[in-house]
Amino acid sequence: MVDFEGYFARISEAASDPGLQAAIKKAVNNYERKKEIWIGRLRNIPEMARELEERRRSSLANLADNVERAVEAMRYNGMNVFTAKTAGEAREIVYGLLGGEKLVMKVKSLTTEEIGLNEFLQGRGVEVWETDVGAVLLQLTRGKAAHPTGLCISTPKEKFAAEFSRMAGRALGSDPEELVAFIREFVKGKITKTRVAVSGANAITADTGSIYILTNEGNDRVVTSWPEKHVVVAGIEKVFPDREAADLYARVMPYYTTGGGFTQYVSVITGISSSSDIERMSVRPACGPGEIDVVLLDNGRSEMLADQDFKEALVCIKCGACLLNCPVWNLIAQEYGESVYMGGMGIPWTLFTAGIEKAATQAYSCLQCGKCSDVCPMRVDVRRMVQRAREMSAAVGLVPEKVKRVKESVLANGTPYSTVQREGGSRP
Ligand code: SF4
Repeated sequence: MVDFEGYFARISEAASDPGLQAAIKKAVNNYERKKEIWIGRLRNIPEMARELEERRRSSLANLADNVERAVEAMRYNGMNVFTAKTAGEAREIVYGLLGGEKLVMKVKSLTTEEIGLNEFLQGRGVEVWETDVGAVLLQLTRGKAAHPTGLCISTPKEKFAAEFSRMAGRALGSDPEELVAFIREFVKGKITKTRVAVSGANAITADTGSIYILTNEGNDRVVTSWPEKHVVVAGIEKVFPDREAADLYARVMPYYTTGGGFTQYVSVITGISSSSDIERMSVRPACGPGEIDVVLLDNGRSEMLADQDFKEALVCIKCGACLLNCPVWNLIAQEYGESVYMGGMGIPWTLFTAGIEKAATQAYSCLQCGKCSDVCPMRVDVRRMVQRAREMSAAVGLVPEKVKRVKESVLANGTPYSTVQREGGSRP
């Protein structure tokens, strides 16, 4: 049962919120301004994006082999590697890895959001804290991210102040510096009290078994270095064939996702911390965690890869450039879709990770203008996948009433634009 009416009522409400649109406009303008500055300095970014696209496409053609090599390399480096076919399996594996620990500190990860990890762990009595400033706000408000990397770019600072004041138990001003300082102190206070950190991964390399984590806030360093155990949850599409490809990704991604030229922190973790300073004897751990566990998640990705119509979606690097250029997202931001994967590009991802019932509303929100594909650094053909998702929704009867009525009217009365194909070829 899909509540199209309820969903469209929600997005209409968002589309009529001038505060939301003002915040989005500000964020998009900042993004475009930064891009203009950085394209002058990093002139070869489009060429690097082309190269990355080629590497993404060829590595996906050998994904199973790359995943196997990555698992072997990570194990060789002393990491424990687990594979999870479903979201439920991944959640159980992570819970088991906690070993009874009741406090977990996290670094923002879309993959853990996809599997609903926080809610699951909290349901089992585990205290879970995000550590990105925006992610903490979303945790407090049970909100949804507006963008894969700019989680709260549509949220005014007053909202942060109100929620963080409640969390602090004292009044905080809306000065961003004060608000960020509050989270910084909170994270530093908590991190010494836990034994387990959970993060995602931006990339994992098949040749060296290295885990890349990119952040601007530096919380990855604090969170993944201090606790005794670091648990990484990553989708299998994050596996890159080699360090060169992952380095290229780390150079290309910041420009398209924030408009900036670089990410403040790129952590590359290739094993358990160790010291050989005393008589050249290797001692593990040194300052970092003594255990690294990696959970590689499938959750529909293999099916996506095997589907000729949708394997294209795996090329996506989740930079979110398409969202910032999407006319629908520019009106409703985080309301565009019912899963963690928003917008046009999110439609195939929602379809394969959350099911057609969740994807149907999203598919019928898209205008199919194709602006997403025009700006995509990976040249992902989003529009074609959206059309396929609509066809699949229609095939199982998931079509909004209004669309059905338009179709009936066109079939009955014709269209001023062309002759209607009445049998077999008409699209809902
Ligand atoms: S579809 Fe392209 S622009 Fe959109 S998130 Fe993916 S890589 Fe970025």
